Amino acid sequence: MDKNALIEGINALKKEKNAIILAHNYQNPEIQDIADFVGDSLELAKISEKIKEEVIVLCGVFFMAETSHMLAPDKQVLLPVLTADCPMARMITKEDVLKLKEVHPKAAVVTYVNSTADVKAVSDICCTSSNAMKVIQSLKEEEIIFIPDRNLGRNMARFIAKKFIYHEGFCPTHEEISEEEMRTLKDSLPHQVEIIMHPEVNPKIAAYADKLLSTGGILKYAQISENRDFIIGTEMGMHYRLEKIAPQNRYFNIGRDMVCPNMKKIHLQDVYDALSKGTHLISLPADVREKAKAAIDR
Ligand code: SF4
Repeated sequence: MDKNALIEGINALKKEKNAIILAHNYQNPEIQDIADFVGDSLELAKISEKIKEEVIVLCGVFFMAETSHMLAPDKQVLLPVLTADCPMARMITKEDVLKLKEVHPKAAVVTYVNSTADVKAVSDICCTSSNAMKVIQSLKEEEIIFIPDRNLGRNMARFIAKKFIYHEGFCPTHEEISEEEMRTLKDSLPHQVEIIMHPEVNPKIAAYADKLLSTGGILKYAQISENRDFIIGTEMGMHYRLEKIAPQNRYFNIGRDMVCPNMKKIHLQDVYDALSKGTHLISLPADVREKAKAAIDR
């Protein structure tokens, strides 16, 4: 099928199946274009709770589909490509968390939403990159086990007077930026360009940024800032999103495209197949789902 036929087919199937398509900000442009809603992982999870449709086609990675299922267990959540997974979420297991809790019994386990349901289920509370600071400050515990992203944890810990215990997880897409790249970038900037990076970057790299913002934060800031030129230090899908939402600005990469291969696995054919065949249904055991949801709701 050619692109137009696929889009027509997807729209017809959406009506027939009473389905909605949700896409993450890092998805391929063709997927962002056919989605009913595009947002960050928290926004996608929250909207799952509110929608009236019976089927959610989640164009993102595995943990996002799990989170949608947790918040909307009465709906069918479909992940079009089952291997679209987040390597960082797989860097820690439930057993690793239980061991950390044993060694640090007084600490609260704060888990970044980019984690598996099994890990969320043994956590005290979940956070996103936009609310992590607020979540940690709201806790009475003075010791924090922050998982799985060591970079997000360390980028926040600079501003919080609590003891942090990390697990050495990281996002490969954000971790691979080198200091050499940042020095070259800084030296080559011809005029006033603001460097905005995601807090999943290594703290050494974060030091070069003018602002550290979540994807939702970047989108909001681009719409209100008086600056017009920005270096965007996060996954390339954000450039497409920014050009749509705030086209008055110019967006540059860090000197090369940052690409999360897992976020690029879903194409129109996969969405069509998901709708026509009901693939791949994401489901969790009820106890895991409820415990993980409690950590999100807290
Ligand atoms: S960009 Fe990084 S954190 Fe996001 S899904 Fe890809 S690997 Fe995971």
